Amino acid sequence: MSVPLLDLNRQYESLQDELESAILDVARSTQYVGGPKVVELEKAVAGYVGGKYCIGVSSGTDALLLALMGLGVGPGDEVITSTYSFFATAGVVSRVGATPVFVDIELDTYNIDPKQIESAITAKTKAIIPVHLYGQCADMDQILDIAKRYNLKVIEDAAQAIGAEYTGHRRAGTMGDVGCYSFFPSKNLGAMGDGGMVVTNDSQLAEKMQLLRNHGAKPKYYHKLVGGNFRLDPIQAAVLLVKLPHLDAWTAARQKNAYIYRNLFAVAGLASNVLSLPQVKWDRHIYNQFVIRTQHRDALMECLKDKDIGCEIYYPVPFHLQECFSDLGYKIGDLPNAEAAANETLALPVFPELSESELQEAASAVISFLSDKSE
Ligand SMILES: *Cc1c(COP(=O)(O)O)cnc(C)c1O
Repeated sequence: MSVPLLDLNRQYESLQDELESAILDVARSTQYVGGPKVVELEKAVAGYVGGKYCIGVSSGTDALLLALMGLGVGPGDEVITSTYSFFATAGVVSRVGATPVFVDIELDTYNIDPKQIESAITAKTKAIIPVHLYGQCADMDQILDIAKRYNLKVIEDAAQAIGAEYTGHRRAGTMGDVGCYSFFPSKNLGAMGDGGMVVTNDSQLAEKMQLLRNHGAKPKYYHKLVGGNFRLDPIQAAVLLVKLPHLDAWTAARQKNAYIYRNLFAVAGLASNVLSLPQVKWDRHIYNQFVIRTQHRDALMECLKDKDIGCEIYYPVPFHLQECFSDLGYKIGDLPNAEAAANETLALPVFPELSESELQEAASAVISFLSDKSE
């Protein structure tokens, strides 16, 4: 049986009539930019995550870019972030003319190691971007404490973590100065194209980001600031409004899948040097990815590919070893945990509509491959 890493058909089919009529409504309204669907979604997401002001934007990448612009990060500034994430997290820092400073991760969560942040701070440091990778929050209390002591801004990259909770049921995105979400189709709340959102509890910052989203114009053609076109498409907003009420059930299904994997792997009794699973540290992990780690990763991946079982490496090269950042002067060995993760991690299918037999199939393939590696 082949098992896909992600199958968007199943979700589409389950909501097909509602989705198609929502899209048709926007088509017939001729309200193709901005409008009531975008505002409605902003309110709904603010309610869902427990934040004050949400601003819909064109992608998760643009959410991060807008956050940096809103906080006035630019040339001469340094921004500390995890070396292990999707490229956008670091790319946006360079795009505003600032310098990214990379910090290693914890190997049991793949999130930025808060103990290594302080030594990366210089007089030029302006902000920290923690990433809530794979759907689990970074250690925000420690990060917020450091930010407070050094007067730094905190931008949460919650692209993979909408609805994830840290301690005290605080939701990803609402703890720092700005939180950024992505509605890329493979995220837990996915649009039918690109989309994103920023959230903040600061009314002035919200107002500034709202201006920057639309070329800094207020009123039209009078430009207070140089912004961009970072607007969310109302067709995507309409799609997301259909999907949002289902997000908690989808999250529960992802959590159940992760739980079943954990059980199957525990019963198989693979040695810890052959298979390690991420720790769940906080109140709610939403499993955008279920990632395993093994020294036999490349051979395991070949084996799964041969059996037509979907899997993927997120991410094969940490930022500090990317060619485009070579002028920053990092070398192999500088951030060893992220380098180990890049060489040893593999994401398995965990999407909500995955059937239990498909999950069993994927888990058995992993177990049978790794069993004879366990001594
Ligand atoms: C997906 C993602 C982004 C970028 O979001 P897009 O909507 O694809 O632009 C940023 N950071 C992380 C961690 C992501 O996973």
